[in-house]
Amino acid sequence: EPPPGCPPDVEQLGRATWTFLHTTAAYYPEKPTPTQRANMLMLLRSLPILYPCTWCAQDFGEDIEKNPPDVSGRVALSKWLCERHNEVNSKLGKKKFDCAKVDERWKDGPPDGSCD
Ligand code: FAD
Repeated sequence: EPPPGCPPDVEQLGRATWTFLHTTAAYYPEKPTPTQRANMLMLLRSLPILYPCTWCAQDFGEDIEKNPPDVSGRVALSKWLCERHNEVNSKLGKKKFDCAKVDERWKDGPPDGSCD
């Protein structure tokens, strides 16, 4: 863990980016307008071009070529993103996340209310 105030390393940047992306997906509308869909698509498609970890960006670009973003609504988008994150988890030898739990992790918190 680098001292506070240091530029993010690949791990910190990754955690921050996944937090932003999963949270944004969790609050994406169930019935997005065409403008919301188009902007979500642009946000996701800009990552392979702009994400400041070149090998991450490259592999993510190849993955979303094979598995195009599903921006039809929040449930579908959250699942799609969970699956993309699991691709990265697999590549890094990390455990797969149970995609049935995305809302609990990123929107509602656990049923015991421990995050309230
Ligand atoms: P993270 O993987 O950052 O996850 C943060 C939290 O999200 C976890 O604690 C867990 O609660 C939750 N979570 C885990 N999996 C899922 C899931 N499938 N769906 C929903 N929530 C989940 N790092 C590299 O070294 N090489 C790469 O090629 C690489 N590519 C990346 C590509 C992208 C687009 C992004 C955003 C990040 C990439 N990273 C890469 C960073 C890497 O994914 C991790 O963010 C980093 O290794 C820190 O991992 P972590 O174990 O702290 O948890």
